[in-house]
Amino acid sequence: MADTLDIIELGHPILRQTAQAIASIQDDQIQALIDQLLATVKQSNGVGIAAPQVAQSFQLMIVASRPNPRYPNAPEMEPTPMINPQILSHSTETVKGWEGCLSIPGIRGLVPRYQAIEIEYCDRNGNLQKMQLTDFVARIFQHEYDHFNGIVFLDRVESTKDLITENEYQKLFNRSAN
Ligand code: ZN
Repeated sequence: MADTLDIIELGHPILRQTAQAIASIQDDQIQALIDQLLATVKQSNGVGIAAPQVAQSFQLMIVASRPNPRYPNAPEMEPTPMINPQILSHSTETVKGWEGCLSIPGIRGLVPRYQAIEIEYCDRNGNLQKMQLTDFVARIFQHEYDHFNGIVFLDRVESTKDLITENEYQKLFNRSAN
């Protein structure tokens, strides 16, 4: 297992920068960064992570939905590295759902997102992939994609009244957790 990386938090200027597209996916440094992000998201009980969150301002994200103590109801999927991803189309319907962010510990927000999106991205072998994402996984993608544009979920809530603490969130939605 690769080393994990330190996660930068709200206030670090890189989280507000625009991330660069990756020119050479086969580059050793990029392949190592993918392995490190996979290890970091797993260790942090995240369901996704974007490279800017480890101070690497590149268009690389991991989407890794699975049930864990932070998201007990998340669907299970293979952790998927996505490089230079794009949103090709999206539903008109948006849905509000709770989000947190490894770079904003202790806070959850009720965030509107498109219910369904069609995306394309390069996988770690450089092959272009197209995919339909819906519901929670579409939400993860949109959250991570925002990180490439210096946007965090706090910028997306409709009211500051839609923000709650992690402790209160766990009391509301995860009563079985300690
Ligand atoms: Zn985030």
